[in-house]
Amino acid sequence: MAQDHYATLGITRDATSDDIKRAYRKLARELHPDVNPDPQSQERFKEITHAYEILSDPDKRRGYDTGGFAGDGGFGGGFGFGDIMDAFFGGGGSRGPRARVRRGQDALIRIDLTLEEAAFGAERELTLETAVTCDVCTGTGCAPGSSPSTCELCRGRGEVQQVTRSILGQMMTSRPCANCQGYGTTIKQPCGECAGDGRVRSRSTMKIEIPAGIDDGNRIQLAGKGEVGPGGGPHGDLYVEVHVQKHETLVRDGDDLHTPLAISMVDAALGTKVQIESLDGTLELAIPHGTQSGTTIPIRGKGVSRLRGNGRGDLFVHIEVVIPTKLNEKEADILRSFAALRGDKEDVSVQNTQGGESGFFSRLKDALGR
Ligand SMILES: [Zn+2]
Ligand SMILES: [Zn+2]
Repeated sequence: MAQDHYATLGITRDATSDDIKRAYRKLARELHPDVNPDPQSQERFKEITHAYEILSDPDKRRGYDTGGFAGDGGFGGGFGFGDIMDAFFGGGGSRGPRARVRRGQDALIRIDLTLEEAAFGAERELTLETAVTCDVCTGTGCAPGSSPSTCELCRGRGEVQQVTRSILGQMMTSRPCANCQGYGTTIKQPCGECAGDGRVRSRSTMKIEIPAGIDDGNRIQLAGKGEVGPGGGPHGDLYVEVHVQKHETLVRDGDDLHTPLAISMVDAALGTKVQIESLDGTLELAIPHGTQSGTTIPIRGKGVSRLRGNGRGDLFVHIEVVIPTKLNEKEADILRSFAALRGDKEDVSVQNTQGGESGFFSRLKDALGR
């Protein structure tokens, strides 16, 4: 997770997909285990391959760039190590028989959370339908008491060679052995339970902890909780992708929350106390007298828990002062008397640009980006 995939491939963050491919090819040729069998190169080869898996996939790259939680796990999707080898080093070639024992696929499940659950964390019970090791053969795929036998057609090499004549002369080509599907061994007596796969489907439940502060689209990586590999190979990983439902009154922005609040012009002028719906239930908020429409009042520490680090974000209350659209005669009279009483002291009625930096004009200019 701490690895910088761009640095690993020696490219900048604005690299195009061609740049990424070129950088990976160059490094892969230098570091490939066939060329450089020392452990350090092999480790480095794994790193560049992982970096390439992430950065060559637009979705994963975006997730990585935005620092998506646990988004860096390299989710399956058919882009395996073998594919990369095939793409750059010409397929199976003379690489020996395929291993029967392989790593299992990663799995992805999606869960819905309320904003409250995302903000404070939650516990969920997941029901999974996945591949587990076959109990009967313990993953070997062979009927009890038997074992795979060397393929008679390819004599264990997993591939057969063919000589073809062409205008360029004789050519030797090899292809995976059809008799053993390239494994080099055949299972004569497959396990009756799993039909030779070494795995069976099974439904299981598990509890997971959702960390407080998780956001929409984040993925939680549960190492080794994906399906078991063929032939008793290691488990893949399980990714839990979080979808956070919209809240009726609260809008999330990172660790902060925003909520609109309409107040009457009288309350705005005189000041009042109002009730605000928050994640912590109903809160009382004092509206100072003379509050203008568009004012934002922060309530510290009532936002979402920070996923990384301590504490919580803030809740911002956006005030909208509502001017009555219909007045009866009596109300209109009262307002006229009010205006008469204010007389020339009135600060907004007919003058247009008073109000300084915090005035309406200034805010309007801000909003228009001038
Ligand atoms: Zn079995
Ligand atoms: Zn064979």
